[in-house]
Amino acid sequence: MQDAELTIIGGGLVGASIAWGLSRSGVKPLVLDGSDLDLRASRANFGLVWVQGKGLHAPDYALWSDSSAKMWPAMAAALCDDSGIDVGLVQQGAFTFALSHEELEAMRADMECIAFETAGRAAAFEMLNGCQTRERLPQVGPDVAGSVYSRVDGHVNALRLFHALHAALTRRGVSYRPNHRVDAIEPASDGFILTGNGFSILSRKIVLAAGLDNERLAPMVGLSCPLKRSKGQILVTEKCKPFLPCLSPTIRQTDEGGIMIGDSEETDTTSIASSSDISAVLASRAIRVFPALADLSVVRSWTGFRVKTADGVPIYDHSARHHGAFLVACHSGVTLAANHALVVAPQIAASELSDELSSFSARRFHAEEIA
Ligand SMILES: Cc1cc2nc3c(=O)[nH]c(=O)nc-3n(C[C@H](O)[C@H](O)[C@H](O)COP(=O)(O)OP(=O)(O)OC[C@H]3O[C@@H](n4cnc5c(N)ncnc54)[C@H](O)[C@@H]3O)c2cc1C
Repeated sequence: MQDAELTIIGGGLVGASIAWGLSRSGVKPLVLDGSDLDLRASRANFGLVWVQGKGLHAPDYALWSDSSAKMWPAMAAALCDDSGIDVGLVQQGAFTFALSHEELEAMRADMECIAFETAGRAAAFEMLNGCQTRERLPQVGPDVAGSVYSRVDGHVNALRLFHALHAALTRRGVSYRPNHRVDAIEPASDGFILTGNGFSILSRKIVLAAGLDNERLAPMVGLSCPLKRSKGQILVTEKCKPFLPCLSPTIRQTDEGGIMIGDSEETDTTSIASSSDISAVLASRAIRVFPALADLSVVRSWTGFRVKTADGVPIYDHSARHHGAFLVACHSGVTLAANHALVVAPQIAASELSDELSSFSARRFHAEEIA
């Protein structure tokens, strides 16, 4: 049986961010990953470093997202040093557009609620009516009833981020093994025995970062990870010269020129295929916001399954029954990558999650069940 000090199960954005962060803390983990045909959320995302509207009825999550966004410039610089890859981080603020007064009022209510629940510590925002929105962005169409603007939001080139993390891992000597799906984890006196097709590894510590498969793996080490899939579809247009003056959660121009239009929230996850009905809705809303988009052709479309916890808030856990087994599961793995690499990974290296993370334990679900 092979031996490892610390093994990360899953090499998606979450596992790779933690692995890179650990390597910066002087720990060289082993990363066991699945195969290229796995449904990785990390290959499908929209690339937002997003804070606006996050954490409704979950103030710790609102502040956690905000702190990660603030740490992103340091993360991007360190990642560029380690990998030689610029992930194209831009944080110049963003607008969320409403196409009716009802939508605008619902957005206002949510933003005010987050501000109240965080005692004013959440990121500042402005509510703009249709005229005020068009004054700032003359390209916006007449159907836009208003918007929310916040200065903290930004985006990156998501695929380059994934590439950069893996390049940085390799340069720091982390051992990455694709096609090593872990089928079973057995707690042992001196660690955990991880088995899969043709391998068996004894690891003193483990981090579960297997995306949707965390739900199956967590109970093997005395943890729980209630997840629900949510399907998201994205369209990408042909490349064009920079014309979008701003970022929004559903329309953004990448640093390579294509416009990304997204992303649906579908509960039917029986198939990963994209749907032309959903494409039509996404495209029509985007054209109502920016009528000039009607002149562009869509060249690609894809879908992905979000790794969503039952309440949408991340789970960070350390098994009380099997010391040394950690769990990280979240949606928004791009936004939270800075926290995962620069805050969570050093805590895992020190074998203890801080009190700051205690509200993110999956114990919150059991407390609700008991009540
Ligand atoms: C449509 C869409 C849009 C999104 N937009 C954004 C956005 O704009 N901003 C943002 O912050 N986030 C966004 N996200 C979320 C973000 O992509 C995810 O939070 C992130 O990719 C999750 O990464 P992960 O590593 O947990 O999961 P995954 O990417 O699914 O990776 C899990 C990894 O674990 C491996 N694995 C699974 N089981 C095992 C096993 N048993 N043994 C070993 N390895 C295993 C898999 O092969 C895979 O590599 C979006 C997601 C989607 C789907």
